[in-house]
Amino acid sequence: MYLAIDDTDSSQGMCTTFLLTEIIERSGLDIIGMPALVRLNPTVPFKTRGNGALRVNLGHGEGETRVIGVFGNRPITAFQHGSEAVTEREMIDMAEPVVREFAELGDDNTNPGIAVSRHGLPEEFYWRAVRDFLTVEDAEEFLKKNGAMYVRIKKGRGIIGSAAALSWKGARKTYELLAYRYPHPEPIPQDMRMSMASMADTIPGTFNNVDRNNRHAAIFPSEKTPVILGIRGRDPEALLGQGIGMVISWNVGHDRILVYESNQATDDHIIENPGKLEDYHTYRITGRVLSSPYSIRGSHYFCNIQWKESTVKIAAFEPTKEFRRTFRQLAQGDMITVYGSFISGTINVEKLDLVGRAMLYEKSSPGCPVCHKQMENHGHGDYRCRTCGERLKVPHYTVVNRGLSEGQYDVPVIARRHLSRPFDFSAQTVGSIRR
Ligand code: ATP
Repeated sequence: MYLAIDDTDSSQGMCTTFLLTEIIERSGLDIIGMPALVRLNPTVPFKTRGNGALRVNLGHGEGETRVIGVFGNRPITAFQHGSEAVTEREMIDMAEPVVREFAELGDDNTNPGIAVSRHGLPEEFYWRAVRDFLTVEDAEEFLKKNGAMYVRIKKGRGIIGSAAALSWKGARKTYELLAYRYPHPEPIPQDMRMSMASMADTIPGTFNNVDRNNRHAAIFPSEKTPVILGIRGRDPEALLGQGIGMVISWNVGHDRILVYESNQATDDHIIENPGKLEDYHTYRITGRVLSSPYSIRGSHYFCNIQWKESTVKIAAFEPTKEFRRTFRQLAQGDMITVYGSFISGTINVEKLDLVGRAMLYEKSSPGCPVCHKQMENHGHGDYRCRTCGERLKVPHYTVVNRGLSEGQYDVPVIARRHLSRPFDFSAQTVGSIRR
């Protein structure tokens, strides 16, 4: 029986992923396959952090098992397949009290939703939820039509994420190891965080662990949450083996570790070659740079590109750090592909491919064709040789060395979005992960 939950936390605490571990623990049922952490449209304004929904398949386990986590000192195993152990009603009756006990229901912006189904739901709803905007009514209609049972708590907006998690098929997937303690533990000192994040970076296939330039240990959350750390990877075996072993050896006060499959770093949120641009959607568009980038107070950079018949403003905001060095070297005539969310008429660039670099020329006074001395510029295309009196109307042009090559540019790890797939994935091969 698939169970999905969403929208249980506030910025003050809790995390839906921790709540899922509590439901697993109390259910006494077996985990079939891996639990899933499914990120959805990153631009929805009412998200708490990363707009993530959770799903797990619980029942009587059958077939091969593997260890996917540790609760206390007890290994947590997942079965390859399984059969039903409870009805939809029993699953809801088991999960709902846990959600009510742990969710931050005092926060206006916390509106949990629980959905259960005997089978996965049609994928179409996931694609809408990761790219588009949906309503609670859309989710209700979809769940009813597909015979799923659900509960809305307060406004119950969480059923949007829950329905999407039930319909995620994982055509592209990565993995994340999460370690928890509830209530959240003491913060770990910055130096230790940096060295742990660097160690995590040695696990094959892991990504976005550490940003050395910005001294940012990205495996640690920045807000108060039961999550102590999260290590993302593309090789599940490396996370399950080396990853779990490493986190246990760190002894960071965790009492649970669980590995999830996820749509993180898949670019699933990106709409390619759209007909038009609409607010709160994320796009990949290709266009020609119309003018040199300019900055405004706060060190945010902007420029306009010609995309189809329209002029589109694109931006590299201050949090994208050194990526702005690349951005501000763009020049009129460059052909670029940008990936980013369209918000209030501007694309917030999350990565950029310089596909065709414009040649830039610098104008100077020409050399005299008779005596080879540098000529004098008398303005308005009038160049005169002081030595022999020769005159020319055409200046000399030299190609400017721009210091920016054609190629793909990611924002630094500190500024990466959960769903954004780093360009450097294409250069690496990891296990049997599909790309
Ligand atoms: P949590 O860790 O609790 O999941 P979060 O950052 O993921 O925090 P939520 O608090 O879950 O954010 O808030 C996101 C809300 O947006 C949820 O209610 C979810 O159902 C809803 N939602 C997700 N995708 C969409 C979408 N495409 N359109 C409209 N609402 C959505």
